[in-house]
Amino acid sequence: MNNDDTRELLVDAANRAANYLEGLRLRDVRPLRGSIERLMEVLNGPLPATPSRPTDVLALLDDYGSPATVASAGGRYFGFVTGGAMPVTVAAQYLAAAWDQNCFSFVSSPAVACIESTALRWVKAVLGLPATAEGALVTGATMANFTCLAAARNSTLREYGWDVDRHGLFGAPALTVVLGEEAHATIYKVLSMLGLGRDRILCVPSDGQGCIRPELLPSVAGPAIVCIQAGNVNSGAFDPASAVIEWARRCKAWVHVDGAFGLWALASPAHAARASAFVGADSWAMDAHKWLNVPYDSGIAIVRDAQALGRAMSISGAYLPVGGEHRDAMNLTPDSSRRARAVEVWSALKSLGRSGVAELVNRNCRQARRMADEMTRAGVEVLNEVVLNQVVVTFGDDERTQRVIASIQNSGRCWCGITTWKRRIAMRISVSSWATTEEDVDLSIRAILEANRFA
Ligand SMILES: *Cc1c(COP(=O)(O)O)cnc(C)c1O
Repeated sequence: MNNDDTRELLVDAANRAANYLEGLRLRDVRPLRGSIERLMEVLNGPLPATPSRPTDVLALLDDYGSPATVASAGGRYFGFVTGGAMPVTVAAQYLAAAWDQNCFSFVSSPAVACIESTALRWVKAVLGLPATAEGALVTGATMANFTCLAAARNSTLREYGWDVDRHGLFGAPALTVVLGEEAHATIYKVLSMLGLGRDRILCVPSDGQGCIRPELLPSVAGPAIVCIQAGNVNSGAFDPASAVIEWARRCKAWVHVDGAFGLWALASPAHAARASAFVGADSWAMDAHKWLNVPYDSGIAIVRDAQALGRAMSISGAYLPVGGEHRDAMNLTPDSSRRARAVEVWSALKSLGRSGVAELVNRNCRQARRMADEMTRAGVEVLNEVVLNQVVVTFGDDERTQRVIASIQNSGRCWCGITTWKRRIAMRISVSSWATTEEDVDLSIRAILEANRFA
């Protein structure tokens, strides 16, 4: 391709992306009817034997891919806890894709290494986490939990004279892992990947909001890790961090926070009170691709003891010091070669500033509150105390609730997912996108209540 062709292709991509985003306003949230079948027909053929023109490749993706997407980038998507992607972060990702930097080390991309250090410094600053903590930009909260808990495992056992890095876990002192009953499913997978076992945990019962009941924390001796949650995926509630941390200090346990979306509450003066005690933990996992509204895949691991992270993730065995002249990401993350996700995190924080992040959190929380109030007013049962951006509702018995959820999803007017809360089938409304306007909230309330009325 010559320069003109490249320019034409990239401008074409930018125009198609802009058209796609503009179209979301009027579009069904679920994939358009028949679009998946058309995609399968046209894009899923046999491996091409010969080349295609790049502009044709892009046109195929747009013509058949775009209509088949879930409109989660728009304002009426309330599934899971996802967040959208602010335009500045999408644009930054384009540019960074053109840079094509390999971000494993300083020499391979000094520019991105510098941007990454700044992005991490800003993340700590906006959340009020210790400036001396070290961090890793990873794919998502699952890997952020993995990264933090690897540091926790190695550091905790090291206190008891065992070097996991060199000797693995065979013959190591038993390590106790304490979790709340409502710990996120990915924590169990991470424990399995770390050789700690899904079933070797002590599980602490939770209260009506899904939070750990601190009076039921077990007594533990020897190496121990406790995981607490900032933001339950259903209720949005926060574990009682200060009580758990006090307990953990007595038994010398490492405190890890799974704060995939909820930790962003620390950025908002209006909501920080609930989350402020989490700052006293030893490690924190969160997602930028949730409430910070950057593109997937973008998780963040922060570890108070920088050396503990370095020892767990160093590529040459435990002995490459952190804090040398240049920060090499490969010594702080599970990955080596990796993309420049720092660029999007940096762009989000540069464009929002401290006040913008707070405003985003506050706005989504207000919108969730309004959804909950309108549901209650219409006689729909709200099952959680709405403390953040999450609303859990039922429309009667399990069978009827399922029917209403299917009808809402089918309507295309908004999208909310199904969940199980306190052994009941329920619908979860998660408000976490920059793109959600007050009009989107109105339209979605109307769609939900109509589906309920006609079920
Ligand atoms: C979303 C979420 C995860 C998993 O995050 P991924 O980014 O999907 O890996 C873990 N814990 C909590 C509390 C979450 O909300």
